[in-house]
Amino acid sequence: MTDILYIVVPCYNEEEVLPETARRLQEKMTALIKKEMVSPKSRVLFVDDGSKDSTWEKISSLHQENPLFSGLKLSHNRGHQNALIAGLMTAREPADIVISMDADLQDDIEAVDQFLLEYQGGSDIVYGVRSSRTKDTVFKRTTAVGYYKLLRALGVEIVENHADYRLMSKRALNALAEFKEVNLFLRGIVPLIGFRTSVVKYERNERFAGESKYPLKKMLAFAIDGVTSFSVKPIRFITWLGVIIFCLSVLSLAWILADKLFGKTVSGWATLMGSIWALGGIQLLCLGILGEYISKIYQETKQRPRFFIDCCLDDRESNL
Ligand code: UDP
Ligand code: MG
Repeated sequence: MTDILYIVVPCYNEEEVLPETARRLQEKMTALIKKEMVSPKSRVLFVDDGSKDSTWEKISSLHQENPLFSGLKLSHNRGHQNALIAGLMTAREPADIVISMDADLQDDIEAVDQFLLEYQGGSDIVYGVRSSRTKDTVFKRTTAVGYYKLLRALGVEIVENHADYRLMSKRALNALAEFKEVNLFLRGIVPLIGFRTSVVKYERNERFAGESKYPLKKMLAFAIDGVTSFSVKPIRFITWLGVIIFCLSVLSLAWILADKLFGKTVSGWATLMGSIWALGGIQLLCLGILGEYISKIYQETKQRPRFFIDCCLDDRESNL
């Protein structure tokens, strides 16, 4: 019995690349089924993220021509991460293994074989990692490197140079289903699942056709989500800033008083300076303290799962 593989592909206005993507995926799937690496019940699941072009018509006709292709149509454009989770959660029922990839053929389809070998070797999650970013623009490359550094500094666990090209086993997907948060940043959530993971390096290509569906505005919103969904360090930063400024204000108060005593000041200066520093410090400190409570509320409202059990040794097998 071989495992059922679903390849989940989110598509937003991808009519230009879809025929070629479908052709290449069909080729790959047929080869994998022939080599008995995956079950003949395996599928390619295209998720139409509320496209305005003929993407859905193309998906429907692919499905009619070949049962290998399945389709899922979202009622509205909800963005890449939501389209992806919709596909993953749909595929998790019938599939044993799910691979997610973009529709634009930037992710090397040939890496799928390697993904499956890692899975057979016992990995529950396999991350596709770009071996180089030479095909990206200088802007994208430098901002991406800086962004990964920032996330690391803020304590976010993240796999560098990994986008959303990854394999997940059924139990990893079941674990992912336990994360109920709305602001999705999957590449930050998946490492929290744990289990055995591995990395497959691949060469990232240029977009096969069409334009990027991630304009700068969407990219920035996504980057901010990545920080605010995983780190409360920016709030803690305010608290510390408040503490530092308050301490400085106490020091400066001594200095201001000394100046006043020696009569080096004009009247009113000491009280004005002292209160500006002290009040500024106290206000920042209070903001920070409020922030600490808000960050607790924020973490609680996420209702993230507290743990996942990898394996359990117990004699009462039937009870587990
Ligand atoms: N995508 C989506 N919904 C959106 C934007 C993008 O489903 O609102 C899909 C898109 O069709 C593609 C993937 O997300 O399959 C990645 O988008 P894109 O390749 O345009 O991003 P880039 O590679 O330029 O960062
Ligand atoms: Mg792309």
